[in-house]
Amino acid sequence: MRRYEGGEVRGPPRGGHFYRDPKVRSHIYLDHNATTPVDPRVREAMQPYLETAFGNPSAAHGLGREAKAALEGARETVAGLLGTADKDEVVFVSSGTEADNLAIAGAGLAYQERGRHIITSAVEHPAILEACAALEDGGFSVTYLPVSGQGMLDLDELRRAVRPDTILVSLMHANNETGTLFPLGEVGAITKERGILFHTDAVQSFGKVPLHVRHLNIDLLSLSAHKIYGPKGVATLYVRRGVRLRPLLRGGEQERGRRGGTENVPAIVGLAHAARIMFLEMPGEGERIRKLRDRLEAGVLARIEGGAVNAQQSPRLPHTSSLTFDGIEAQTLAAALDLEGIAVSAGSACHVGSLQPSHVLRAMGLNLEQVEGTIRFSLGRLTREGDIDRVLEILPHLVTRLRAKAPLTR
Ligand code: PLP
Repeated sequence: MRRYEGGEVRGPPRGGHFYRDPKVRSHIYLDHNATTPVDPRVREAMQPYLETAFGNPSAAHGLGREAKAALEGARETVAGLLGTADKDEVVFVSSGTEADNLAIAGAGLAYQERGRHIITSAVEHPAILEACAALEDGGFSVTYLPVSGQGMLDLDELRRAVRPDTILVSLMHANNETGTLFPLGEVGAITKERGILFHTDAVQSFGKVPLHVRHLNIDLLSLSAHKIYGPKGVATLYVRRGVRLRPLLRGGEQERGRRGGTENVPAIVGLAHAARIMFLEMPGEGERIRKLRDRLEAGVLARIEGGAVNAQQSPRLPHTSSLTFDGIEAQTLAAALDLEGIAVSAGSACHVGSLQPSHVLRAMGLNLEQVEGTIRFSLGRLTREGDIDRVLEILPHLVTRLRAKAPLTR
């Protein structure tokens, strides 16, 4: 019987075609925090489960058992990478958004007899903020911790926010817009001492910086495959043994009753394989990408006046750069870069279609003009030195052109 046991990870993508594929390379892709392409090694690991090994993992026959073995192998892999030997602590879900919702609503509702107060931060992803808002509508109270101008958390504020009825603290590991890393170890020590559950949204950090659920006293953790060169629409909620959850999806006993619905076996195998590759390559890749990011930031600051790096003084992810330029509209700059074949994200809109100014940058004290003048570069496995050189060549011209066109009063 086939069993996905982590599979063998072979060196760099074979033949390097991942990087040379003209369809991929026609763009300089600097938006890895939005999503990443599926690594060919991941696609290959998924292939059998899309074709011949298609059984339902809940079925008792051979094809079902084969799918079940793959599912459990993937669970074991993810558990090991998270820092636990207990694979039943890994729950597969459909997205980082679902993982976040399940953590907040699932734990919030399961523990409401103990208290109805939750602590989070003002800079979380909307999947957390809106799940908290929904609980507030149902009578919970939520404290949104502020951050400093550098996007950093004040641990004393956290200590002061804890109340006798606090049941859950949810604080993200890395911020998707600025890359700022919250001090999870210190947070975990506080929640453990006070007997409060600790959830972290590690969607942006998992596989990119070291993370160990046991060492950090984490009870619940969200991660998502499409940020780590895996497929879209599959994610994990880590749930420490003994932590109760009220399921959001009912109607099946899958995932030990914590998440109904037939498991997406090919995608889950893809998630596990993508995660393995991330951890194997983390030391070298992290350093390579950090150097490219630092070169980008230093080059931009040297070439463009009135530019600033957000959260530069904080511990940050190695590949994320949030840059604010005086006197430009980031949406227009991002569109101009796109015309040049360079994909970035305008920091003022955290989601496509959203015209809301970034709540993250606002919480850091940037004024509206600065928020609207912010773009995010997020580097990754696709990024090469030549890409950074090209950005440094083109960006100063675009900024000058846009500033010349900008109205004198904004
Ligand atoms: N949390 C953070 C920090 C994110 O950056 C994202 C995606 O951008 C999510 C949650 C949601 O993940 P998904 O796209 O898998 O729903």
